[in-house]
Amino acid sequence: MDKQTYRFSNSSTDFYFANGISHLKEIVDIKHTILITDEHIFSAHQKRFKAYKTIVLKPGEQYKVQATVDSIVEELITLEADRKTTLVGVGGGVITDITGYVASIYMRGIRFGFIPTTLLAMVDASIGGKNGIDVGLYKNIVGVTRQPSFILHDLIFLNTLPDSEWHNGFAEIIKHACIKDAAMFKELHDNSFKYYRSKKKAICELIQRNATIKIKIVQGDEFEQGERKLLNFGHTLGHALENQYELSHGQAVAIGITYAANISRQLLQFKQVEAVTQVLQQYGLPTYAKFDKQKAMDVLKMDKKRERESIHYILLEKLGKGVIQSIPLQQLEQIVQSL
Ligand code: ADP
Ligand code: ZN
Repeated sequence: MDKQTYRFSNSSTDFYFANGISHLKEIVDIKHTILITDEHIFSAHQKRFKAYKTIVLKPGEQYKVQATVDSIVEELITLEADRKTTLVGVGGGVITDITGYVASIYMRGIRFGFIPTTLLAMVDASIGGKNGIDVGLYKNIVGVTRQPSFILHDLIFLNTLPDSEWHNGFAEIIKHACIKDAAMFKELHDNSFKYYRSKKKAICELIQRNATIKIKIVQGDEFEQGERKLLNFGHTLGHALENQYELSHGQAVAIGITYAANISRQLLQFKQVEAVTQVLQQYGLPTYAKFDKQKAMDVLKMDKKRERESIHYILLEKLGKGVIQSIPLQQLEQIVQSL
Protein backbone atom coordinates (compact mmCIF):
# COMPACT_ATOMS: atom_id res chain seq x y z
CA MET A 1 0.00 0.00 0.00
CA ASP A 2 1.08 3.51 -0.78
CA LYS A 3 1.91 5.08 2.59
CA GLN A 4 3.33 8.45 3.55
CA THR A 5 4.27 9.02 7.17
CA TYR A 6 4.26 12.54 8.57
CA ARG A 7 5.87 13.29 11.91
CA PHE A 8 4.27 15.65 14.43
CA SER A 9 5.69 16.75 17.79
CA ASN A 10 4.77 13.70 19.85
CA SER A 11 3.53 11.23 17.27
CA SER A 12 3.24 10.48 13.59
CA THR A 13 0.39 9.84 11.20
CA ASP A 14 0.43 7.38 8.29
CA PHE A 15 -1.41 8.71 5.25
CA TYR A 16 -2.82 6.23 2.77
CA PHE A 17 -3.99 8.38 -0.10
CA ALA A 18 -6.22 6.74 -2.68
CA ASN A 19 -6.02 3.17 -1.38
CA GLY A 20 -9.53 2.19 -0.40
CA ILE A 21 -11.36 1.06 2.70
CA SER A 22 -10.78 -2.58 1.74
CA HIS A 23 -7.17 -2.04 2.87
CA LEU A 24 -8.20 -1.06 6.38
CA LYS A 25 -7.76 -4.64 7.52
CA GLU A 26 -4.04 -4.34 6.74
CA ILE A 27 -3.73 -1.39 9.13
CA VAL A 28 -5.87 -2.59 12.03
CA ASP A 29 -6.80 -5.83 13.69
CA ILE A 30 -10.48 -6.29 12.81
CA LYS A 31 -11.24 -7.99 16.13
CA HIS A 32 -10.01 -4.98 18.07
CA THR A 33 -11.47 -2.27 15.89
CA ILE A 34 -14.68 -0.28 16.17
CA LEU A 35 -15.85 2.03 13.42
CA ILE A 36 -17.87 5.16 14.13
CA THR A 37 -19.98 6.63 11.34
CA ASP A 38 -23.35 8.28 10.78
CA GLU A 39 -26.67 7.02 9.37
CA HIS A 40 -26.26 8.66 5.94
CA ILE A 41 -22.87 7.14 5.29
CA PHE A 42 -23.80 3.81 6.80
CA SER A 43 -26.92 3.40 4.67
CA ALA A 44 -25.20 4.52 1.46
CA HIS A 45 -22.16 2.28 1.99
CA GLN A 46 -23.45 -0.55 4.15
CA LYS A 47 -21.39 -3.29 2.54
CA ARG A 48 -18.14 -1.49 3.33
CA PHE A 49 -18.87 -1.78 7.04
CA LYS A 50 -19.82 -5.45 7.00
CA ALA A 51 -16.70 -6.92 8.59
CA TYR A 52 -16.59 -4.40 11.45
CA LYS A 53 -18.30 -3.57 14.72
CA THR A 54 -19.82 -0.18 13.96
CA ILE A 55 -21.39 2.56 16.04
CA VAL A 56 -23.82 4.55 13.90
CA LEU A 57 -24.62 8.09 15.01
CA LYS A 58 -27.35 10.48 13.93
CA PRO A 59 -25.94 12.82 11.26
CA GLY A 60 -25.39 16.51 11.79
CA GLU A 61 -23.34 19.09 13.68
CA GLN A 62 -26.09 19.38 16.33
CA TYR A 63 -25.02 15.95 17.55
CA LYS A 64 -21.39 16.96 18.01
CA VAL A 65 -22.06 17.44 21.71
CA GLN A 66 -21.32 15.88 25.07
CA ALA A 67 -24.55 13.81 25.10
CA THR A 68 -23.30 11.94 22.01
CA VAL A 69 -19.91 11.41 23.64
CA ASP A 70 -21.67 9.84 26.64
CA SER A 71 -23.71 7.53 24.42
CA ILE A 72 -20.61 6.43 22.48
CA VAL A 73 -18.74 5.71 25.72
CA GLU A 74 -21.66 3.58 26.88
CA GLU A 75 -21.62 1.64 23.62
CA LEU A 76 -17.86 1.18 23.86
CA ILE A 77 -18.30 -0.32 27.32
CA THR A 78 -21.04 -2.62 26.00
CA LEU A 79 -18.77 -3.67 23.13
CA GLU A 80 -16.01 -4.31 25.68
CA ALA A 81 -13.61 -1.88 24.08
CA ASP A 82 -10.30 -1.74 25.92
CA ARG A 83 -6.82 -0.26 25.61
CA LYS A 84 -6.10 -2.49 22.60
CA THR A 85 -9.10 -1.16 20.69
CA THR A 86 -8.67 1.14 17.68
CA LEU A 87 -11.50 3.56 16.91
CA VAL A 88 -11.91 4.53 13.27
CA GLY A 89 -14.04 7.53 12.37
CA VAL A 90 -15.60 7.00 8.94
CA GLY A 91 -17.30 10.23 7.97
CA GLY A 92 -17.19 13.97 7.63
CA GLY A 93 -15.75 16.47 10.07
CA VAL A 94 -18.40 15.82 12.68
CA ILE A 95 -17.54 12.13 12.85
CA THR A 96 -13.77 12.61 12.78
CA ASP A 97 -13.93 15.33 15.49
CA ILE A 98 -16.04 13.27 17.82
CA THR A 99 -14.16 10.01 17.18
CA GLY A 100 -10.82 11.67 17.92
CA TYR A 101 -12.24 13.21 21.06
CA VAL A 102 -13.79 10.01 22.41
CA ALA A 103 -10.62 8.05 21.58
CA SER A 104 -8.60 10.63 23.51
CA ILE A 105 -10.63 10.34 26.70
CA TYR A 106 -11.83 6.73 26.72
CA MET A 107 -9.58 4.87 29.18
CA ARG A 108 -7.39 8.01 29.08
CA GLY A 109 -6.72 7.52 25.40
CA ILE A 110 -6.83 4.71 22.84
CA ARG A 111 -5.56 4.44 19.26
CA PHE A 112 -7.63 6.04 16.51
CA GLY A 113 -7.64 6.67 12.77
CA PHE A 114 -9.87 8.32 10.19
CA ILE A 115 -11.45 7.52 6.87
CA PRO A 116 -12.80 10.91 5.78
CA THR A 117 -15.84 10.64 3.50
CA THR A 118 -16.44 14.30 2.62
CA LEU A 119 -14.27 16.49 0.44
CA LEU A 120 -13.98 18.89 3.39
CA ALA A 121 -12.81 16.20 5.78
CA MET A 122 -10.31 14.85 3.23
CA VAL A 123 -8.61 18.20 2.69
CA ASP A 124 -9.10 19.73 6.11
CA ALA A 125 -11.11 18.46 9.06
CA SER A 126 -9.49 15.03 9.42
CA ILE A 127 -5.98 16.51 9.42
CA GLY A 128 -4.22 18.28 12.25
CA GLY A 129 -5.31 16.53 15.41
CA LYS A 130 -7.93 18.99 16.63
CA ASN A 131 -10.70 16.89 18.11
CA GLY A 132 -13.62 18.29 19.99
CA ILE A 133 -17.25 19.10 20.47
CA ASP A 134 -19.54 22.13 20.57
CA VAL A 135 -21.24 23.66 23.59
CA GLY A 136 -24.22 25.86 22.84
CA LEU A 137 -23.23 28.48 20.28
CA TYR A 138 -19.54 27.85 20.80
CA LYS A 139 -18.07 25.52 18.24
CA ASN A 140 -15.16 23.29 19.23
CA ILE A 141 -14.86 25.02 22.58
CA VAL A 142 -14.06 21.71 24.31
CA GLY A 143 -11.43 19.38 22.91
CA VAL A 144 -7.91 18.03 22.69
CA THR A 145 -5.03 18.13 20.23
CA ARG A 146 -4.01 14.56 19.40
CA GLN A 147 -2.98 13.17 16.02
CA PRO A 148 -4.66 10.10 14.52
CA SER A 149 -2.38 7.14 13.89
CA PHE A 150 -3.56 6.92 10.32
CA ILE A 151 -5.75 8.57 7.70
CA LEU A 152 -6.97 6.53 4.77
CA HIS A 153 -8.70 8.00 1.73
CA ASP A 154 -11.23 6.17 -0.38
CA LEU A 155 -12.65 8.41 -3.10
CA ILE A 156 -15.51 5.97 -3.66
CA PHE A 157 -17.30 7.73 -0.80
CA LEU A 158 -17.43 10.92 -2.85
CA ASN A 159 -19.79 9.21 -5.32
CA THR A 160 -22.65 9.62 -2.87
CA LEU A 161 -21.66 13.02 -1.52
CA PRO A 162 -24.35 15.67 -2.22
CA ASP A 163 -23.36 18.72 -4.28
CA SER A 164 -23.86 21.00 -1.30
CA GLU A 165 -21.11 19.10 0.54
CA TRP A 166 -18.81 19.38 -2.47
CA HIS A 167 -19.28 23.15 -2.35
CA ASN A 168 -18.39 23.08 1.35
CA GLY A 169 -15.12 21.33 0.63
CA PHE A 170 -14.21 23.87 -2.00
CA ALA A 171 -14.46 26.67 0.58
CA GLU A 172 -11.47 25.16 2.42
CA ILE A 173 -9.63 24.44 -0.83
CA ILE A 174 -10.05 28.09 -1.90
CA LYS A 175 -8.92 29.11 1.58
CA HIS A 176 -5.70 27.08 1.15
CA ALA A 177 -5.13 28.65 -2.27
CA CYS A 178 -5.60 32.18 -0.90
CA ILE A 179 -3.20 31.84 2.03
CA LYS A 180 -0.56 29.52 0.57
CA ASP A 181 -0.72 28.60 -3.08
CA ALA A 182 -1.17 31.23 -5.80
CA ALA A 183 -0.61 28.62 -8.53
CA MET A 184 -3.46 26.51 -7.20
CA PHE A 185 -5.63 29.64 -7.03
CA LYS A 186 -4.99 30.14 -10.74
CA GLU A 187 -5.79 26.49 -11.46
CA LEU A 188 -9.09 26.83 -9.61
CA HIS A 189 -9.79 30.05 -11.44
CA ASP A 190 -9.11 28.39 -14.82
CA ASN A 191 -11.18 25.28 -14.11
CA SER A 192 -14.70 24.72 -12.86
CA PHE A 193 -16.74 22.93 -10.25
CA LYS A 194 -18.02 20.53 -12.91
CA TYR A 195 -14.48 19.70 -14.01
CA TYR A 196 -13.35 18.54 -10.57
CA ARG A 197 -16.72 16.96 -9.81
CA SER A 198 -16.43 14.67 -12.82
CA LYS A 199 -12.68 14.09 -13.34
CA LYS A 200 -11.43 11.48 -10.88
CA LYS A 201 -7.77 12.16 -11.54
CA ALA A 202 -8.15 15.92 -11.16
CA ILE A 203 -9.99 15.70 -7.85
CA CYS A 204 -7.58 13.08 -6.55
CA GLU A 205 -4.62 15.38 -7.25
CA LEU A 206 -6.41 18.39 -5.82
CA ILE A 207 -7.23 16.49 -2.61
CA GLN A 208 -3.65 15.36 -2.10
CA ARG A 209 -2.28 18.81 -2.83
CA ASN A 210 -4.62 20.35 -0.25
CA ALA A 211 -4.09 17.66 2.34
CA THR A 212 -0.34 18.26 1.97
CA ILE A 213 -0.73 22.03 2.41
CA LYS A 214 -2.59 21.43 5.64
CA ILE A 215 -0.18 18.75 6.89
CA LYS A 216 2.85 21.00 6.30
CA ILE A 217 1.28 23.93 8.15
CA VAL A 218 0.32 21.72 11.09
CA GLN A 219 3.78 20.12 11.19
CA GLY A 220 5.35 23.55 11.46
CA ASP A 221 3.05 24.72 14.24
CA GLU A 222 0.98 21.92 15.75
CA PHE A 223 -0.21 23.90 18.76
CA GLU A 224 -1.16 27.03 16.85
CA GLN A 225 1.39 29.48 18.16
CA GLY A 226 1.85 31.18 14.80
CA GLU A 227 1.67 29.88 11.22
CA ARG A 228 -1.26 27.51 11.88
CA LYS A 229 -3.41 30.54 12.66
CA LEU A 230 -3.40 31.20 8.89
CA LEU A 231 -5.85 28.31 8.54
CA ASN A 232 -8.40 30.46 10.34
CA PHE A 233 -8.63 32.64 7.23
CA GLY A 234 -12.34 33.32 6.69
CA HIS A 235 -13.24 31.48 9.88
CA THR A 236 -13.33 34.23 12.49
CA LEU A 237 -16.34 35.98 11.03
CA GLY A 238 -17.40 32.68 9.43
CA HIS A 239 -17.93 30.96 12.76
CA ALA A 240 -19.87 33.92 14.13
CA LEU A 241 -22.24 33.70 11.15
CA GLU A 242 -22.47 29.93 11.03
CA ASN A 243 -23.85 29.86 14.55
CA GLN A 244 -26.44 32.56 14.01
CA TYR A 245 -27.77 31.77 10.57
CA GLU A 246 -28.76 28.65 8.71
CA LEU A 247 -25.46 28.43 6.88
CA SER A 248 -23.26 25.45 6.15
CA HIS A 249 -19.65 25.70 7.31
CA GLY A 250 -18.46 26.24 3.74
CA GLN A 251 -20.98 28.99 3.07
CA ALA A 252 -20.07 30.75 6.31
CA VAL A 253 -16.35 30.48 5.54
CA ALA A 254 -16.90 31.77 1.99
CA ILE A 255 -18.63 34.88 3.38
CA GLY A 256 -15.83 35.16 5.95
CA ILE A 257 -13.24 34.96 3.15
CA THR A 258 -15.06 37.68 1.20
CA TYR A 259 -15.03 40.06 4.18
CA ALA A 260 -11.45 39.19 5.10
CA ALA A 261 -10.41 39.98 1.52
CA ASN A 262 -12.14 43.36 1.79
CA ILE A 263 -10.52 44.08 5.16
CA SER A 264 -7.20 43.14 3.51
CA ARG A 265 -7.88 45.71 0.81
CA GLN A 266 -8.45 48.41 3.43
CA LEU A 267 -5.53 47.56 5.70
CA LEU A 268 -2.95 45.96 3.39
CA GLN A 269 -3.85 47.29 -0.05
CA PHE A 270 -4.76 43.78 -1.22
CA LYS A 271 -5.74 44.15 -4.85
CA GLN A 272 -7.51 40.96 -5.86
CA VAL A 273 -10.79 41.01 -3.99
CA GLU A 274 -12.74 40.48 -7.21
CA ALA A 275 -10.69 37.42 -8.20
CA VAL A 276 -11.44 35.90 -4.79
CA THR A 277 -15.20 36.48 -5.00
CA GLN A 278 -15.18 35.23 -8.59
CA VAL A 279 -13.60 31.90 -7.61
CA LEU A 280 -15.95 31.48 -4.64
CA GLN A 281 -18.92 31.92 -6.97
CA GLN A 282 -17.44 29.54 -9.53
CA TYR A 283 -17.49 26.79 -6.89
CA GLY A 284 -21.08 27.44 -5.78
CA LEU A 285 -20.31 29.53 -2.72
CA PRO A 286 -21.81 32.80 -1.44
CA THR A 287 -19.80 36.03 -1.11
CA TYR A 288 -21.46 39.18 0.25
CA ALA A 289 -24.35 38.65 2.64
CA LYS A 290 -26.76 40.65 4.73
CA PHE A 291 -26.21 39.96 8.41
CA ASP A 292 -26.65 41.65 11.76
CA LYS A 293 -23.18 43.14 12.08
CA GLN A 294 -23.55 44.14 15.72
CA LYS A 295 -24.58 40.61 16.70
CA ALA A 296 -21.77 39.10 14.64
CA MET A 297 -19.27 41.37 16.41
CA ASP A 298 -20.63 40.30 19.81
CA VAL A 299 -20.04 36.61 19.04
CA LEU A 300 -16.68 37.42 17.49
CA LYS A 301 -15.53 39.00 20.74
CA MET A 302 -15.86 35.59 22.40
CA ASP A 303 -13.60 34.05 19.76
CA LYS A 304 -10.65 32.00 20.95
CA LYS A 305 -8.36 34.21 18.85
CA ARG A 306 -9.18 37.32 20.83
CA GLU A 307 -6.52 38.83 23.05
CA ARG A 308 -7.77 41.62 25.31
CA GLU A 309 -8.92 44.48 23.10
CA SER A 310 -7.63 43.18 19.79
CA ILE A 311 -8.10 40.07 17.73
CA HIS A 312 -5.73 38.11 15.51
CA TYR A 313 -7.25 38.34 12.08
CA ILE A 314 -5.94 36.55 9.01
CA LEU A 315 -5.56 38.81 6.02
CA LEU A 316 -4.05 38.54 2.55
CA GLU A 317 -1.03 40.53 1.47
CA LYS A 318 -1.52 39.05 -1.98
CA LEU A 319 -2.92 35.82 -3.41
CA GLY A 320 -1.01 32.90 -1.89
CA LYS A 321 0.28 34.98 1.01
CA GLY A 322 -1.81 35.04 4.17
CA VAL A 323 -0.59 37.05 7.16
CA ILE A 324 -1.59 37.31 10.81
CA GLN A 325 -2.65 40.80 11.74
CA SER A 326 -3.62 42.06 15.17
CA ILE A 327 -6.59 44.40 14.72
CA PRO A 328 -8.09 46.44 17.56
CA LEU A 329 -11.71 45.31 17.99
CA GLN A 330 -12.93 48.86 17.64
CA GLN A 331 -11.24 49.31 14.28
CA LEU A 332 -12.50 45.93 13.08
CA GLU A 333 -16.03 46.89 14.07
CA GLN A 334 -15.75 50.12 12.11
CA ILE A 335 -14.53 48.35 8.99
CA VAL A 336 -17.14 45.57 9.18
CA GLN A 337 -19.91 48.15 9.68
CA SER A 338 -18.68 50.07 6.62
CA LEU A 339 -18.70 47.10 4.23
P1 ADP B 1 -18.00 18.01 7.12
O1 ADP B 1 -17.81 18.54 8.53
O2 ADP B 1 -16.83 17.28 6.63
O3 ADP B 1 -18.55 19.01 6.19
P2 ADP B 1 -20.27 16.49 8.18
O4 ADP B 1 -19.75 15.47 9.11
O5 ADP B 1 -20.94 17.69 8.71
O6 ADP B 1 -19.10 16.89 7.19
O7 ADP B 1 -21.20 15.77 7.12
C1 ADP B 1 -21.98 16.48 6.21
C2 ADP B 1 -23.16 15.65 5.76
O8 ADP B 1 -22.76 14.79 4.70
C3 ADP B 1 -23.75 14.75 6.83
O9 ADP B 1 -25.14 14.76 6.65
C4 ADP B 1 -23.18 13.39 6.49
O10 ADP B 1 -24.01 12.37 6.92
C5 ADP B 1 -23.11 13.44 5.01
N1 ADP B 1 -22.06 12.61 4.39
C6 ADP B 1 -20.77 12.53 4.76
N2 ADP B 1 -20.08 11.78 3.90
C7 ADP B 1 -20.96 11.35 2.97
C8 ADP B 1 -20.85 10.54 1.81
N3 ADP B 1 -19.68 10.05 1.42
N4 ADP B 1 -21.97 10.30 1.09
C9 ADP B 1 -23.15 10.85 1.46
N5 ADP B 1 -23.32 11.63 2.52
C10 ADP B 1 -22.24 11.89 3.27
ZN1 ZN C 1 -13.24 25.23 8.16
